[in-house]
Amino acid sequence: MFLSEATLPISISPISDESGLGYCLRSISRNGASLHGLRRLLGIDNVGRFTAKHASHLGRIFRQSSQWFESSLPSIEKTKPYKRDCYGHRWFSKNNLRLQAPQVCVPCLHSKGYCRAVWDVSLSTVCVEHQCYLLDFCSKCQKPLRWDRPRVDVGHCGHLLTSDAIKKAPKVLLDFQTLLERKFDLLVNQDSRPVHADELDWSVLTLSGMHAALVGFGCKEKPYEVLHSRIRTGAYRTEEWALFTLRGLERWSRWITSSPLSDELSSLVSDSLLEHMAVWHDSVQDQKFAVALLERIFSKNLKIVIGGRLERLSQLELF
Ligand SMILES: [Zn+2]
Ligand SMILES: [Zn+2]
Repeated sequence: MFLSEATLPISISPISDESGLGYCLRSISRNGASLHGLRRLLGIDNVGRFTAKHASHLGRIFRQSSQWFESSLPSIEKTKPYKRDCYGHRWFSKNNLRLQAPQVCVPCLHSKGYCRAVWDVSLSTVCVEHQCYLLDFCSKCQKPLRWDRPRVDVGHCGHLLTSDAIKKAPKVLLDFQTLLERKFDLLVNQDSRPVHADELDWSVLTLSGMHAALVGFGCKEKPYEVLHSRIRTGAYRTEEWALFTLRGLERWSRWITSSPLSDELSSLVSDSLLEHMAVWHDSVQDQKFAVALLERIFSKNLKIVIGGRLERLSQLELF
């Protein structure tokens, strides 16, 4: 039999809010095989990524719609700068999604039996239903979780994932997660954008824009801290993303409620992340938002009119 004709004996359907990679793991393990085995079926090497390019092949192997894999796995356009489509959203930083180091809500895994797609978003750090932090490690041996593991609820180490290490999440992160999940869900999201929004309205940002703005506000621990050049690409742990988000939200609300904090803020906020957001994001709202922040916090006078063609904007020497 040719490899391309291989199908699996047990065919299970993806759940509507299931992670693309999580489904591959859940489905292949139900068939007594591993993601390595799935890679062999697809003809990719041992560390190869599953991407939207494999959608039709995966559809045949799992006997499911290839469109589902197409939207639930990342596209592989080799663009510079980084640009990927996944889950119906466009992502502009390598670390927007946790495609290499997954995280889970252990109580959800035990009650639902699958990995939720929204856990693949790096800014997701808590579970609203169980009011706890997500886990990206095995609570028995502390080893980081990998996609390559025997089952969705078992670590690569062989330990069953348990709730021992889960911590109660603060309200501010639970509220933020609710907003993020609303935005992530395209069916809810479609009509929710206000037509004439204030230029500093978070609700109009794309998820990737929200990531850039929040990390820009929250990644520095102290004033004038020099950031590592990998801040936009590095894979961070759940607790680090939670810290960025908490600090970002706290600084944001302090700034919005008592405006003249710009001097202090300019030493705490990363202008390079906002500049990247202003130039490379293809949502006009994201660009307007970033430009407004740069003008107000750093007094950077950007003599550009956002709203023209993106290609033209991207080629401008702005800074
Ligand atoms: Zn949960
Ligand atoms: Zn373990």
